[in-house]
Order: sequence, then structure tokens, then C-alpha cells
Amino acid sequence: MISKRIKELSPYKTETTPCKVKLSSNELPIRFPEDVKRRIGEVVSSISFNRYPDPQATELKEIIAFRFGVSPENIVLGNGSDELIQYLSMSVEEFNRGVIYPIPTFPMYGICASVLGRKKVEVPLQEDFDINLEEFIRKIREEEPAIAFFSYPNNPTGNSFSEEKIRKIREEGVFTVLDEAYYHFSGKTFLKEALSKENTVVLRTLSKIGLAGLRVGVLIAKEEIAREINKVRLPFNITYPSQAIAKVMLEEFYFLIEEHVSMVVRERERVMKELSKLEGVKVYPSDANFFLFSTPYPADLVHKELIKEGVLVRDVSYLPGLKGCMRVSLGFPEENDLFLEALDKVLKSLC
Ligand code: PMP
Repeated sequence: MISKRIKELSPYKTETTPCKVKLSSNELPIRFPEDVKRRIGEVVSSISFNRYPDPQATELKEIIAFRFGVSPENIVLGNGSDELIQYLSMSVEEFNRGVIYPIPTFPMYGICASVLGRKKVEVPLQEDFDINLEEFIRKIREEEPAIAFFSYPNNPTGNSFSEEKIRKIREEGVFTVLDEAYYHFSGKTFLKEALSKENTVVLRTLSKIGLAGLRVGVLIAKEEIAREINKVRLPFNITYPSQAIAKVMLEEFYFLIEEHVSMVVRERERVMKELSKLEGVKVYPSDANFFLFSTPYPADLVHKELIKEGVLVRDVSYLPGLKGCMRVSLGFPEENDLFLEALDKVLKSLC
């Protein structure tokens, strides 16, 4: 029968309310021009759907390796980095050893631990959203977890944790995963360490650079580590269309991705500045393609009122330490303007 452990879980929830402006899932705003769509159409129509895809996704891995400045041997691909979080959680030490991570953070670290029956060791962030180093190290020594996950920058707080603190934690010997899903917006990375140390792994994804629907996550590690994790991978985890489309996008249209990433970084500065001009609104620093903000009113109320105005953000106020907070992703300039106008209107109507 289904185990008690699984029965006690809740399914992963995401914000799906239909809205004119969707700024709730940290996706990249990008519209593909007609020539891109035509090219993708050609590629998809040439796929032999009756055949299994390349189990190693060799060609896709090569172009990803090139774009990320590593070798294909350092890479394991996942059906999104979600799947790689699961593979890592399955691969390190035995299941009687726990998983440690700061909270609030990306929920998959905890979900994968629960599915496997591993103990979750959660360490609350400081008020400035950086790691509480003393407490983290104390917990590592006390609980001896197998693996530590850091969302870098952290989802949902948006900041990058102190590099020095992460290095100190790694020196404790715990297997350390730097989940760099938002790397393209932060430019900060532990890639060098991942390529040189056996207890450090970096995760990246194509989801935040315009290809979320393809489900391609990237694990980067020393060759010896990548080889071991690859044994856990399901044989055809990257579908034929995903391999083909992602390859063409990275080979022929990478400039489009880069242009849109730059637009988001510019918009981040502008929107955060504009938002902080609204009375009573607090905006938190961000290295990602989203940021946190709070208003003097209950977040669930503001969230609902924003939906009425056609703007969907994420209410994260139920998470520890985030009372009153909402998370908003950066969209196209015109979408961001609609968000700013809607929030201004909502706040005026509530005061
Ligand atoms: N890590 C972090 C920190 C994320 O925020 C997300 C997506 N929200 C993921 C991983 C999962 O990304 P993917 O689409 O590659 O599964």
C-alpha cells in the first residue's frame, strides 16, 4: 500500500489563476519572432516520433557545455532542475542522513527529502535573508546531514547568500549543491569549485532563460561525480522535441535569449526604483529575475486586488520570515508598468 510518508505529503502547488499579466513564476518574458517559430517548426516536423530520443542527449549536452563554458563530461541533464534535485537527493549517502537548507527557500529540496524519508534540517535565514552561519554549522555538526542545498540567488528572497559563509559550510565536509537557477541574472557562480571539488555541484536550468516549457535542467560537477549521478538518471528523460528545440535555440538564437536577459536586468533596476517610491512599500534587494516587496496591508488582500486588476504575483507571506511579502517576476516593460499602475491603484483604494 501507499506509505504513510507519501500519504502525509501535499502535491506541489503553483499559482495558475489566469491573468492578463502573469508575473508569478519567474519565467523570462520573450516573444519568439516568426522566423524563429518557422525554424522550430521545421525542426519539430523532422523528428521521428516513433523512435526513442538519444538517451544521452549528446548534441544538446555539447551546445549547453559550450554556452556554460564546461565540458559535456561535466554535465548531467534533467527533466528540469527539479529532477536533478531529486537525483541528488537519491544519490548522496544513505537515506538515514538528512538534507539541510536555509528557509524560506525553493520547496523542492524539502519535498524530495520527504519523498525519500530523509530528515529535513531547516535553518531559518537571518533578518537580512543571509545564512545564519553559526546555527547552520551547529546543525551540521549535530545532525550530520548528507547534503546541503542553497538556492543562489535564493528563491523567493532574491538575494545571493554570502560566498564566504557557503565556503565555510562546505569546509564542514557536507556535500554542497549551489542551485544557480537564476545565474543569468546574478552573474555569481560556484562553477570553478564544482569543477574542482568532489563535494560541490552546481545546478542550472534553461527554464529561466526562456525555455521553461522544454524542461531542461543542467547539473555541473567533476566528471567522476557527474558519471555517478548519471547512473540514477532515467534513460530518456529529455524528450525528443525538447532536445531538438533547445539545441536550435542555444545554437542559432542565443542572442535573443541574451537580449531578453539584459532587458530583465535593466527592468529590475527601474521597477524596483519606481516601486519603492510608492508610500509604505518596502522593496528587498535582488540578484534574480524577481524580487520581494511588502505593503502596509495584508498580502493576501493585496494579491487578490491585484488579480482583479489583471496582474498575477505570488503571495509568499505564509512562509517563515516573510510576513506581508509578495514576489513579483520582471516582465516586459509594458507588463511591469501595468503592475506598477495596478499596485498604486490597489494601495490607494485600501488606504
Ligand atoms: N531551483 C530554483 C531555485 C527554482 O526557483 C526553480 C524554479 N522555480 C527550480 C530550481 C526548478 O527549475 P526547473 O524548471 O529547471 O525544474
